[in-house]
Amino acid sequence: MIHLAEPNLTGNERKYLNECIDTTFVSSVGAFVTRFEEDVVKATEADYGTAVSSGTAGLHMALKSVGVERDELVCIPSFTFIATANAVAHCGAEPWLIDIAEDSWTMDPAVLEQELRDKTVIKDGQVYHKASGKRVAAIMPVYTLGMPADMDEIKRIAAEYQLPVIADAAAAIGAKYKGSNIGKIADVTVFSFNGNKTITCGGGGALVSAKQDIIEKARHLATTARCGIEYDHDMVGYNYRMTNIQAAVGCAQLERVDEFVARKRYIRDYYEKHLNEIKDISFFPEADWAESACWFSGLVLSDKYEVKKVCELLKEKGIEARTFWKPVHWQKPYINAEKSEMKVADSIWEHILTLPSSTGITEEQLAYAVSAIKDIF
Ligand SMILES: *Cc1c(COP(=O)(O)O)cnc(C)c1O
Repeated sequence: MIHLAEPNLTGNERKYLNECIDTTFVSSVGAFVTRFEEDVVKATEADYGTAVSSGTAGLHMALKSVGVERDELVCIPSFTFIATANAVAHCGAEPWLIDIAEDSWTMDPAVLEQELRDKTVIKDGQVYHKASGKRVAAIMPVYTLGMPADMDEIKRIAAEYQLPVIADAAAAIGAKYKGSNIGKIADVTVFSFNGNKTITCGGGGALVSAKQDIIEKARHLATTARCGIEYDHDMVGYNYRMTNIQAAVGCAQLERVDEFVARKRYIRDYYEKHLNEIKDISFFPEADWAESACWFSGLVLSDKYEVKKVCELLKEKGIEARTFWKPVHWQKPYINAEKSEMKVADSIWEHILTLPSSTGITEEQLAYAVSAIKDIF
């Protein structure tokens, strides 16, 4: 079976894991955690960073650190992994779901602006949703499939309404926005290092920022809000620390981040080059402001094809292919969430097919996958 997204662990992972065992530093304090935080900051050209136990935990801490409270609203795109919405709910807040733009599959700033203009009022410098009276507390675009959102536009709107911006960059390490690295574009940027992401710690996450206070607040909250070394805590904190074992894997992975992202982009180019003559299919978009980290590559199928059927046919040939995110506004816990019209999200999500995109995929496997796909179509 050629899998969708397998971890690539052929670097120093084993060596660093052995160091954890030899030194007994297997838990949440250790040299690898500190090094991993520095390496993530370096890899994303941010100024400050802290590691956490998952991407979801990172989003939760980011939201808390910019001041999201119970019963408030956070604008997120509906076309995302459900963790984006869950992190909002973990704050006791609610997502306000925004449609995506067709040319990027990221939050559409025009829709965001229209929603805020039509549905909010400003009182004492705060933004309130008129129908519910809830305060709007933040905007959280997602770097879909590793591609940065239209951040200049989103930041312009955020500045107008004085709202903080959190980037859910879960799968976007290595991406570029208008030629620059992504560590300092949003007020705080969050990465996931889950097993299926380009860089993995087994499980894990990190927050980076240009703002020290945001990162220090997130670090404090994620480490049980402990003050000093005694059992003294000044808030209800969380146990969201990354372990030295996770960080050891992450350090080995980050040594190869450029190579991995280049490989992901190569895989995207390979499929496009070899499949572009097939009728009734297209590819994932890349907006002109972005260089995507190409977490997954795949196809967009026309109405003529049923994605699940194509997946089955590929599986018979030993190729794992899958459907992709069902938008948040179709998920049971968020069925009643405030939302914009969903023209684009509703028109694309059932047409997306993800293809094997592991950084360790061989040329032979790619060639085999391409010929099997051609046969099916
Ligand atoms: C993977 C992912 C997450 C969640 O990260 P975990 O580490 O699995 O908690 C959140 N948002 C997006 C867009 C993701 O792709």
